[in-house]
Amino acid sequence: MGRIRTLVVGAEQALMRFPYGPDRLARVVTGSIVLFGPPGAGKGTQAARISSLTGKPQVSTGDMLRTAVATNSDLGMEAKEYMDAGLLVPDEVIIGLISQRLQQPDAKSGLLLDGYPRTIVQAESLEKIELVVAVISIEVPDDAIVRRIVGRRMDSETGQIYHVEFNPPPKEVADRVVQRKDDNEETVRSRLSAYHEQTAPLAEWYSDRGVLLRIDGDRGIDDVGDSIESVLLKLSGADA
Ligand code: ADP
Ligand code: ADP
Repeated sequence: MGRIRTLVVGAEQALMRFPYGPDRLARVVTGSIVLFGPPGAGKGTQAARISSLTGKPQVSTGDMLRTAVATNSDLGMEAKEYMDAGLLVPDEVIIGLISQRLQQPDAKSGLLLDGYPRTIVQAESLEKIELVVAVISIEVPDDAIVRRIVGRRMDSETGQIYHVEFNPPPKEVADRVVQRKDDNEETVRSRLSAYHEQTAPLAEWYSDRGVLLRIDGDRGIDDVGDSIESVLLKLSGADA
């Protein structure tokens, strides 16, 4: 935490008044926040709360890729086989996508990056174009991940994420929930291997840069959210 404080104080000029969030979070640091963790850790579930707290728009590379697949774009056609197999899409494909997104006006004070970066190459490329002020690492053991992924469902109208057991959809939504094609036990094993081999080493990479914030994600949704909120309040100095 010490190095983060230094970074925040050192970036005093970059602090801005934050117009949307609760009064307690009066200031937020300019720069992007990364949501990091294995597939199914709860990144998407926590993103809405963090986004409304910080005002940073949520950008999920998984959602961007699924949209590309659904519209049969060149990008989608290239990405689909990797996604269906539970493999990461090639770095050069995803790096271009995020670089373009960061140039849009609403990205000026930073984005909430959900699922990006996932390799050291992606992180090195991001470092050249964007300041990352915090990496929220949601930590969940593998056996809990499999249960979460297999039971995940999405509201086909709103995109809201549910779980058949841990966060069941309300009655009026239950008929229209869908399951992602890659959310099956076989693919989740490949995704977990990809995570451990290619993504997990990033935790140390970001820890070395003093921005990694570890959160115990093996608890209820609200408890995890409360912990994230509290570390973000500390980071912004709004808890002082
Ligand atoms: P989850 O939320 O379960 O981790 P995502 O929706 O983030 O899954 O990603 C779905 C798939 O999209 C991944 O399995 C991978 O194939 C691809 N993908 C998403 N983000 C990236 C990324 N940063 N680098 C490479 N592939 C990615
Ligand atoms: P990610 O974006 O990291 O892949 P999601 O937010 O989509 O993860 O969550 C994966 C699944 O686990 C969803 O079905 C979600 O409802 C459920 N889930 C999320 N957080 C928790 C939690 N803290 N406890 C139990 N289930 C959770």
